[in-house]
Amino acid sequence: MLPDKCSVMKEGKQCLSPPEFIVSIIDNKDEYMVGVTCAKCKEIVSGKIAILQKEGKIHEGKISFSEVKAVGTDCIHGDEEDFVQIDMNRSKN
Ligand SMILES: [Zn+2]
Repeated sequence: MLPDKCSVMKEGKQCLSPPEFIVSIIDNKDEYMVGVTCAKCKEIVSGKIAILQKEGKIHEGKISFSEVKAVGTDCIHGDEEDFVQIDMNRSKN
């Protein structure tokens, strides 16, 4: 099951937009789902993922956005517990 809202949190508030893209990391042949995002938050998410990768918090690899409708979830590893909470407050240093 996919979450029903975007994974981005801005200024302490969860983005309530419905997810339009599944965010995943592609590492060789494996694909790891890390979250979902609405179209508006796509840029934020790719920036944030890059930071998390640098910090070693999530898998290294190429960030991929797949349209929610186009994806069959059974070919992607991971479940909701693996999702990162994308909290924008943390990147303000
Ligand atoms: Zn959003």
